[in-house]
Amino acid sequence: MEKETWMRRAIQLSEESVRQGGGPFGAVIVKDGRIIAEASNRVTIDNDPTAHAEVNAIRMATRLLKTFDLTGCDIYTSCEPCPMCLGAIYWARIDRIYYANDRQDAADIGFDDDFIYREIDRLPAERHKLMQPLLPEEGKKAFEMWRQKADKAAY
Ligand SMILES: [Zn+2]
Repeated sequence: MEKETWMRRAIQLSEESVRQGGGPFGAVIVKDGRIIAEASNRVTIDNDPTAHAEVNAIRMATRLLKTFDLTGCDIYTSCEPCPMCLGAIYWARIDRIYYANDRQDAADIGFDDDFIYREIDRLPAERHKLMQPLLPEEGKKAFEMWRQKADKAAY
């Protein structure tokens, strides 16, 4: 199978999602030359703002493989990942990202991907949402406990 075949499946999922009441996004995760997980956007169906196609596909793949580390996997997504999904992809250690539409295409049909990317570029105090430090010294205790924990599962 080729990259185009996997992307066409992601695009097909995005179209099916629109028909079924979800957002126009689909994603597949490929490992060792075959699809191991595929998903579409379920935000409005599940009332879950994090139920983006990429996050749903990652959850499916990690459940299947019984690991939080998707090293060796690639993701094919019908749209450039939003900042949340991009972060999830990095956290999952997915190797490569292929996308069809980009963040500007998503903005053109009313999605916030581009807006959120621009928020990330701003300093916290300049963002549209209030964001300020609170009790940073008290918050450090768990970090110190983690630093000293001998049997931690690092990720
Ligand atoms: Zn996303």
